[in-house]
Amino acid sequence: MKHLNLNLLTGLYDFHCHLHKVENLTKILEKLHQISMGVLVMTESPLEYQTIKKLFNNHLIHTCLGLFPLSINRDKIELFFKLLPNCKYIGEIGLDYSVVCNSKRKLQVAFLERVLYESSISTNKIISLHSRGASLDMVNMIKIKFNGTLILHWFSGSVTLAKQVNENVYFSINTAMIKSKNSKKLIKSLNPSRLLLETDSPSVLYKMRQTNPLDALAIIDYLANIWRISPNEVSLILKTNTKKALG
Ligand SMILES: [Zn+2]
Repeated sequence: MKHLNLNLLTGLYDFHCHLHKVENLTKILEKLHQISMGVLVMTESPLEYQTIKKLFNNHLIHTCLGLFPLSINRDKIELFFKLLPNCKYIGEIGLDYSVVCNSKRKLQVAFLERVLYESSISTNKIISLHSRGASLDMVNMIKIKFNGTLILHWFSGSVTLAKQVNENVYFSINTAMIKSKNSKKLIKSLNPSRLLLETDSPSVLYKMRQTNPLDALAIIDYLANIWRISPNEVSLILKTNTKKALG
């Protein structure tokens, strides 16, 4: 990658990041503040959400109410729906079919259905959706009319399936996707107006190390190459998308 200026990330967001787990957090937060880059901080349970949201008090960093599909249980569901009406940012939630047990999958579907329903009747919520091994069911479940913003995080379905996704749904892409043959095909097939940045950091590795939100710069470089425009123009397109997605 050529040396790109971090200011290309100004006004942009990392739409899916586990920021509280990122290494050298103080330094990264300083840098984010300096360049005015935002982050949607994912949590995996409502309890984690309650703890983590106290960590960040910055108008560009939003802690999201989450319940990871593999750790759904009755207590967490109850707390989740108690908190939901007062939360604008939601994630991560979704479907994870790495679990084979049918009743667990059904529970994930029922939970997601209820979140989508309850989110749709209130204010404009922004939801980051996980769909490992469950792209088809996910695409079918989000064919609803939804008031807020839905973002497919690290979508791994086919190009054909992606074409069935409602036009107002976004795809957030990360540094692992720009290294994968299938994801590259998907990214190329999508209209630039559908894309948002994410890093899913820190667990996604890039250049043999853990990632942080600033690694989103590599995605700008990648898009500039495939769209044959300048990194600056990519940044502008993503800025427009970001503003729209955040409502
Ligand atoms: Zn994640």
